[in-house]
Amino acid sequence: MLMLDLARLQRTGTLDVSGEISPEDEVWDEVGGRPSRAAEVNLEAHMTPTGQVLVRGMLEGSLRYECRRCLEPVDRSFREKMDLVWSEPDELQDPDDDDGEIRTLGPTVSELDLKEVVREEILLRVPRWALCRSDCAGLCPQCGINRNVETCACTLKESDPRWDALRALSPDERK
Ligand SMILES: [Zn+2]
Ligand SMILES: [Zn+2]
Repeated sequence: MLMLDLARLQRTGTLDVSGEISPEDEVWDEVGGRPSRAAEVNLEAHMTPTGQVLVRGMLEGSLRYECRRCLEPVDRSFREKMDLVWSEPDELQDPDDDDGEIRTLGPTVSELDLKEVVREEILLRVPRWALCRSDCAGLCPQCGINRNVETCACTLKESDPRWDALRALSPDERK
């Protein structure tokens, strides 16, 4: 799945490549959200007359995060356009000038593992964390209640923990 057969692409000129990234895939461990269903990958590959491989398409899915402040579940969907180019190394003007836009196609490569590339794109584009709303009040650091839904008395005497640490020092240690 998500393997692109280059010999076949050379014969046909265009190939549809589609597949899924399962919710169990370890790429999600690094993202920080969990998909409720498999993410869909729908790509179309083209080979140009000069042997460049173009892969374009869409990456779609939905992730459930824990709000970074209040830990309530947050669902976020993503829909990312993909536009990738592979080229033979000698077609690049300067092999050292690798801006990441053009990937190198080795002469002995017979198929491209698009799953690896899709995983890279997911890590680049899908947010690592989410907030339930931009002004989420978070949890009270003292009693732990969700301050979006409740108010507690300790919010009044809440202090900056950095000053607490400073107060704990003896006067001689304060500089
Ligand atoms: Zn929140
Ligand atoms: Zn509180």
